[in-house]
Amino acid sequence: MTKAQASQWFQQNLQKLRHQVFPPICLFCQKPLEVDGCCAICLASIRPFPHDICRQCAAPLSQVLAPGPCGQCLNHAPAQLETYALYRYQGAVRDAILAWKLQGDDAGVSWLIESATPYLRRLLHEQDTLIPIPMPLSRMRQHGQHHTANLCHWMAEKVACHWDWHILRRQGEQVRQSALSAQQRRKNLRKAFVLNQDYWAKQHHTQGKLWLVDDIITTGSTVNFAAKALRATGVPVYVLSLSKTIQGD
Ligand SMILES: [Zn+2]
Ligand SMILES: [Zn+2]
Repeated sequence: MTKAQASQWFQQNLQKLRHQVFPPICLFCQKPLEVDGCCAICLASIRPFPHDICRQCAAPLSQVLAPGPCGQCLNHAPAQLETYALYRYQGAVRDAILAWKLQGDDAGVSWLIESATPYLRRLLHEQDTLIPIPMPLSRMRQHGQHHTANLCHWMAEKVACHWDWHILRRQGEQVRQSALSAQQRRKNLRKAFVLNQDYWAKQHHTQGKLWLVDDIITTGSTVNFAAKALRATGVPVYVLSLSKTIQGD
């Protein structure tokens, strides 16, 4: 075999060789597949977040009552104008987020964001700025990652909008939110977020909306208090989460 023939053979069989070294798998359950992606079982468990919701806080409502406001928002309106979630926090979505946050495997989450890109392009505009929910410093040190900042980076790349993690700061060290009751969470979060006033004063890209970005919304307390801290900017604040829990899931 000449060198040219060998090169041609290699090119023709490159895909096959690649598959021998890195066999294609389902990015969510690691089951072998023909090509990298999502298997039928995982796909069936991925649900976009429902449309019949309270527009302000994203609580599910009946079709007649949507888009709200819901009773909770009527009594205590949150600081954000609107709340959006891409997926229900369940099934393969939950597995992908846990694999990312606990093991650093972001393949499933990347796939979820890639799949939601057309929706993100309708929702976000080039002048908008994505702001990650700031993490307590101790947790950032522990994981070596700022997960919501990564989300902002990936989403902003798809839409070509801004993202900025300096605008909102976290102060004090808080106990892990998931270990607390709803009431304890609110008390704990009341003073957790603060606008970086000096930094904000120097910003010029303020024609668009501000979008607070989170990975999982459960009670909504975290995004509410973070949005409250951003109100001093005078810019409309919106919330976008990769996922949100629905009671009973
Ligand atoms: Zn699968
Ligand atoms: Zn509501």
